[in-house]
Amino acid sequence: MINIVLFGPPGAGKGTQSDKLIQKYGFIHISTGDLFRWHTKNDTPLGKRVKEIMNSGALVPDDITIAMLKEELDKNPKAKGFLFDGFPRTVPQAEALDKFLKENGTAIHHVIALDVTEGELRSRIAKRRTTESRADDEEEKLNKRITEYFGKTIHVLPFYKNQGRLNTVNGIGAVEDIFKNICGVIDTVS
Ligand code: ADP
Repeated sequence: MINIVLFGPPGAGKGTQSDKLIQKYGFIHISTGDLFRWHTKNDTPLGKRVKEIMNSGALVPDDITIAMLKEELDKNPKAKGFLFDGFPRTVPQAEALDKFLKENGTAIHHVIALDVTEGELRSRIAKRRTTESRADDEEEKLNKRITEYFGKTIHVLPFYKNQGRLNTVNGIGAVEDIFKNICGVIDTVS
């Protein structure tokens, strides 16, 4: 069983690369952003709690996010491996993930961080706005998401680096080249 965290700021290409990784390796994909969007779209009690927060571009509080993540893990006891996308975004989330996986006799094997400059992120999301409509892609909300990333989420990197689990991959370039580099990390170190 191999478990991967795909890490990076908003617009880094986590969704695109996740789709390709799932196809190639058969991971169970856990995207907390997609899960929260599902709950808000279906107006569940959880969706009602997080809708405003998400739409503002802020992070959902750790207790809510961690409980949702745990539920997803418990739904897939026989998973061949998990690909975590957009989780963990804070150090307490990273600690909780380690704890849950340890209880199941496993761990995070690789953290792959997509490295993309802020200028590139902004131009990608500006482009995405012309084809998709995501409430949190509006300028002011995007600014909040980027602030949350550089203010809170970035601290997850030293957490993994200190444990020797961090691999950085250049996230700028052709989708296929980036994918090859990610697979290189998974295939050589596993
Ligand atoms: P992004 O494109 O910003 O990477 P996601 O689709 O991963 O966005 O997440 C969308 C929103 O869902 C975030 O802005 C945040 O409000 C919420 N969210 C997703 N994952 C987490 C998490 N791990 N912790 C807290 N909030 C989260």
